[in-house]
Amino acid sequence: ESLGPTLTIGEILVEIMATSPGFGFNEPQTFAGPFPSGAPAIFIDQVARLGGSAAIVAAVGDDDFGKLNLARLRRDGVDVSAVTVEPNRPTGSAFVRYRPDGARDFIFNITHSAAGQLSLTTVTKAIAERAGHLHVMGSSLAIPGVATLIEFALAAVRKRGGSVSLDPNVRKELLADSSAYACFEALVQQADLLLPSGDELLTVSGRADRDDALSALFELGVSEIVLKRGAEGASYYRRDGSSGDAAAFRVTEIDPTGAGDCFGATYLTCRRLGMDPAKSLTMANAAGARTVTQRGPMEGVASLRELNTFVEGTPRS
Ligand code: ATP
Ligand code: MG
Repeated sequence: ESLGPTLTIGEILVEIMATSPGFGFNEPQTFAGPFPSGAPAIFIDQVARLGGSAAIVAAVGDDDFGKLNLARLRRDGVDVSAVTVEPNRPTGSAFVRYRPDGARDFIFNITHSAAGQLSLTTVTKAIAERAGHLHVMGSSLAIPGVATLIEFALAAVRKRGGSVSLDPNVRKELLADSSAYACFEALVQQADLLLPSGDELLTVSGRADRDDALSALFELGVSEIVLKRGAEGASYYRRDGSSGDAAAFRVTEIDPTGAGDCFGATYLTCRRLGMDPAKSLTMANAAGARTVTQRGPMEGVASLRELNTFVEGTPRS
C-alpha cells in the first residue's frame, strides 16, 4: 500500500439490463439502468470503498453515461484524474439479458466508443509512474492499442518494486490483436497474483488439470493463485505450498455480474492492507456474495465494516 495506489487500465461502461429473463433483444422489452459498469471500473471502485488507494486510466464520452460513472468513482474515492473525456465518442455500453439458465446475451459498444480510445499520454505515464500495484482485467485487452499502455505501466510498477495482478477473464480469441496476446502472456509471466475463475486456470496455463496448471504457473513466478468458484466459494494456492478453501456465503442471487471483480478487488486490497491469505479469502468471498444480492454490477461494493458485518451475520453453504 505505502508504495502507491492500485492502478487499473481499461473500460468504463454503463450496463443496461433487461428486466425479464429470455433470449436476446429481438422484441421490445423493458430495461433497468444505466448502471455504472466495466470490469476494471467495478474492480477499482471496490478497492477504494475498502479504503485502498486507487486510480484508473480510462475514457468516457461527454455525456450522462460518462458523468454517472465519474460521479460514482469519485464518490467512492477513486482517483479519476487519468480518465479522459472524449468529445466525439459516446461512453461505452453493454446491454445484457439473462437467459432462463443463467447464461447471458450481450450487445457491447466498447471498441468504437470512448472506452476504446486509450493511449499512452503524459498523464497516463505520470500515474503509472507513481502506482504501487497494477491490476489488469483480461477483458481490457480487447481494446485496440491498450497493450502499449499496459506494458508501460507494467515496467514502471516493476521498476519501483510494486506488484502485479491479473484476472484472466477473457477468451484468447477476444484479444484485440497480436500485441494484446503478447501483453496477456507477459502479464501471466509477471503476475504476483492471478485470479482465474472456472476453466481459466487451465486455459492460462495451457495444462489439462488443476495441479499441473498450478505448478506450471508457480514455475513462471506467480506467487498466489486464487480460484473463484461462483456459488461454490473460492480457494487460494501459494507457491510455498500452502492453500486454503472457503465455502460460499449463502445468499439469494439476484444478479451475478460483478461478483468476480468485487471478489478480486477485495482479495488484493486485503492482502495489500496486510491481512493473511485465509482472512483475505473470507473477505473476498463475502464481497462476491454481497454483490450478487444487488441488481447492477457495482451496486454491491462494500466497505470493510460492511463486509465484517456480512461475515458475522451470514451462514455459509
Ligand atoms: P464474473 O461473473 O464477475 O466474471 P467470475 O466468474 O470472475 O465472476 P465467480 O466465481 O462467478 O467469478 O464469483 C466470484 C466470487 O463471488 C465467488 O468465488 C464467490 O466467492 C462469490 N459468489 C459468486 N456467486 C455467488 C453466489 N451465488 N453465492 C455466494 N457467493 C457467490
Ligand atoms: Mg462468473
